[in-house]
Amino acid sequence: MGLLFSPIAIGTLELKNRLVMPAMHLHFCPDGFVNDRLIRFYVERAKGEVGLIIVGGCGVDEFSYSGMIKINDDCYLPGLTRLATEVKRHGARIVAQLFQAGRYASSRDTGRQPVAPSPIPSKLTRETPRELTLTEIEDIIDRFAQAARRAQAAGFDGVEVIASAGYLICQFLSPVTNKRTDEFGGDLTGRMKFGLEVARRIKLATGPDYPLIYRVSGHEFMPGGNTNQEIRVFCQELEKVGVNAINVTGGWHETTVPQITMNLPRGGFVYLAQGIKEAVGIPVVACNRINDPVLAEQILIDGQADLIGIARGLIADPELPRKARQGRLREIRKCIGCNQGCLDAIFAQQSVHCLVNAQAGKEEERTLKAANQGKRVLVIGGGPAGMEAARVAALRGHQVTLWEQANVLGGQLVLAAVPPGRAEFTSLVDFLVGQLERLGVEVVLGQSADPKKVVSFRPDVVVVATGAKPLVPEWLSGNHEHVVTAWEVLSGQVPVGRRVVVIGGGAVGCETALYLAQKGTIDPAAFHFLAMNRAESWETLMLLATRGNKQVTVIEMGKALGLDIGSSTRWTVLQDLHRYHVRVLTNTRAEALTPGGVKIRRGDVVEELAADTVVLAVGAQAENALFARLQTLVPEVYLIGDAVKPRKALEAIHEGFLIGQQI
Ligand code: SF4
Repeated sequence: MGLLFSPIAIGTLELKNRLVMPAMHLHFCPDGFVNDRLIRFYVERAKGEVGLIIVGGCGVDEFSYSGMIKINDDCYLPGLTRLATEVKRHGARIVAQLFQAGRYASSRDTGRQPVAPSPIPSKLTRETPRELTLTEIEDIIDRFAQAARRAQAAGFDGVEVIASAGYLICQFLSPVTNKRTDEFGGDLTGRMKFGLEVARRIKLATGPDYPLIYRVSGHEFMPGGNTNQEIRVFCQELEKVGVNAINVTGGWHETTVPQITMNLPRGGFVYLAQGIKEAVGIPVVACNRINDPVLAEQILIDGQADLIGIARGLIADPELPRKARQGRLREIRKCIGCNQGCLDAIFAQQSVHCLVNAQAGKEEERTLKAANQGKRVLVIGGGPAGMEAARVAALRGHQVTLWEQANVLGGQLVLAAVPPGRAEFTSLVDFLVGQLERLGVEVVLGQSADPKKVVSFRPDVVVVATGAKPLVPEWLSGNHEHVVTAWEVLSGQVPVGRRVVVIGGGAVGCETALYLAQKGTIDPAAFHFLAMNRAESWETLMLLATRGNKQVTVIEMGKALGLDIGSSTRWTVLQDLHRYHVRVLTNTRAEALTPGGVKIRRGDVVEELAADTVVLAVGAQAENALFARLQTLVPEVYLIGDAVKPRKALEAIHEGFLIGQQI
């Protein structure tokens, strides 16, 4: 980790290492003022030894989002000053990101029609903005400059301007959204003018030595939009006007290329930062799905970037930098790219939290103290809820034993990691297993539990985390050779025929369908080999990569698929189902098995779907009989996770944490 922990300068700003926490909307500030919750969140990351924290976005005018930090008036200065002071006191440097959403602003938040270079409707908000006048453009440039002056006055070490993700500066820069015919439109020179003018005016307002970073989309990934080539030119011009570093992310919010979902390979957009680095002489930050310090170090060694941006990875584990520096790599709780607690929460107008880290965003209330009295704790069930409860209880000094009836730990996380692009779930299992080992939890695999065994163990506390089992509809009960559950398919226990009908279009059904639809397609290595050797045409390659050897149909009673998948990920799953030629039947009910498949009903129409295998993905039911039987037999007994009610891993981890904290 020699390079990652070597110092670097961004203009006059000296950093102790190359790790940057990029700005991320947290939705912590309902009135725009900095508060204790926000400060505590960032102080934890500063204590964890990240070199630079970029906070924000900080709205330079009213066109930002609810819950964001505001910097458009001097009344926000005291809070901003407190934030900067506290973060610096704990050893990190801090920069404020200046934000203006343009046509990505929503009238729901602002009460006003959004503004933009041209009145091009936004697919993100479904609104059409109003074209800015020249006077208004001048006013916004001035607001950026005034916001930078405020950040400087509050003690921030610099400012970053957001010119990425499709926000206002991108909108000026892109031919997709800038149709102006005046000095701020036309060719690339005209379209760059707004972004460059913002940089110039910030430098004028703050003095030339005050560090200024630009966050850019390394490629818009928008049809007809700017590619890395045009962004390189923009960055070269930014360097000329005195910008001190470029922070490179991926494309716009409207793009159909997934940007930070789990199926984006780790470091998948580093090539964009590399493209910018080849064009400029100032430091370049690489971002997006870099959740592993070993990968971060390799990017630096390979000269692809000068700094590494890790945002969600520091939500998941504020101590990532310190653990990496000390070589405690297995102790790092990696971000798994699920977006369930962070991005999906933001889209739902909620505060950021985290699937893998129950303390994130709740640093004040979810502290861990040593237990007053060490207890003998028995956790029954080694899924996410049970493992987290065991981890936290052991961390607090209890003597913890965990029984798991399977021969591996992980529970449903093991199955969740099987579908294509979901392998990151494995890293959560690895983390929890490593922590149980480190904390001396006695893990007994292949151990079923009954009241007699539990009582003879003589526990002070029992935590029942026995999970759930797949639901089987009544009309299907009994043994049917060609009917299997999604869990059996994902665990590789059963053969699956060529014609498959998946009953149930929730997350499990969709992902099982994708898993089966990819059977018989070429893998990424074969794709790369064939492409490099031009062995097949592009069209044939795409077909080989997307058409497997099974015909998969998903039937769903409701009107849409994947409604239990977070909004940041759902569209990518639906897109993949289409790409992998999965047939989708909504408003369709399975009514009976037939010798050759399934009888289905769509409204008044009844038909038979031919199937060699029918896969059930109609939900799960809690397994908690043991809990009731233990009530009078042990002094303290708790029920957590899916054993209460089947839900997601996020709820399981959080409940496990809270019980571990309470015992
Ligand atoms: Fe990462 Fe998921 Fe946590 Fe977000 S909720 S920080 S994506 S692990």
